Amino acid sequence: MGTESKDSDKRVALVTGASRGLGRAVAIELATCGIRVVVNYLTNDREAHKVDQEIKSLGGEAMLYKTDVSDATAVRKMTRQIVEQWGKIDILVNNAGIVRDTLLLRMPDEAWDEVINTNLRGAYLCTKYALRSMMEQGWGRIINIASLAGLVGNAGQANYSAAKGGLIAFTKSVAREVGPRNITANAISPGFIVTEMTDKLPQEARDAILARIPLGRFGVADDVAGLTAFLASEQASYITAQVICVDGGVI
Ligand code: NAP
Repeated sequence: MGTESKDSDKRVALVTGASRGLGRAVAIELATCGIRVVVNYLTNDREAHKVDQEIKSLGGEAMLYKTDVSDATAVRKMTRQIVEQWGKIDILVNNAGIVRDTLLLRMPDEAWDEVINTNLRGAYLCTKYALRSMMEQGWGRIINIASLAGLVGNAGQANYSAAKGGLIAFTKSVAREVGPRNITANAISPGFIVTEMTDKLPQEARDAILARIPLGRFGVADDVAGLTAFLASEQASYITAQVICVDGGVI
């Protein structure tokens, strides 16, 4: 009985796109803080199972949930099932994201739609359906993984920059709307972080970016995970509507 009530006190986090890269690091970091973590992903069963196993081997609790964040019916079902299983959703990390880079004049309409749907609509849907549980409890944390491209733009990434810029404006609006319910909403703006997403960049582009980073190195997923865990914690209770850059001071 005592253990049951203790379990129900544990925070529950939904991390989208957690099979790889930043989402994976965030899921593991939150789990090491004693938070129950839902590891959402789209296709990569093998990698997602590895994250699940890693969390469990560290003594944490994880639940895998394979679903497309841009699918409203599926997201609604996912949030409902998390609440059925673990009673609530306290923390939402909207991290799932894709790139379909090309110059605007050559951009297929599908490349625009896919990026907006995953990176912006996905965050909108997950937030909308996770909010109900946070509102009921009068406590919540929403952390949106934006991008430097959403602040300053990037040639060849009009779709991605628009989605991330939209995500930043969305974050600020949500923060103003749900602040009175003791729910914070913040965005993290990573610069260049070493993951599969950035592995695809040609060497020339990598060298050019590195030359603009005062700290003289690319970021790693743990750089973002640490800040996410802080924003999800009690210590961050008076921080909301902010965009915090994790970019080595890129200029
Ligand atoms: P990544 O390594 O390519 O991983 C992307 C993750 O998103 C995977 O887990 C993938 O699942 C999941 N995903 C993709 N589409 C999805 C969908 N429709 N529904 C659910 N999950 C989906 O990317 P990353 O570099 O870690 O980036 C994570 C986030 O940080 C993204 O939002 C990205 O825009 C942002 N960001 C990254 C950098 C960077 O330098 N890496 C910089 C700025 C911002 P599967 O494994 O199943 O495909």
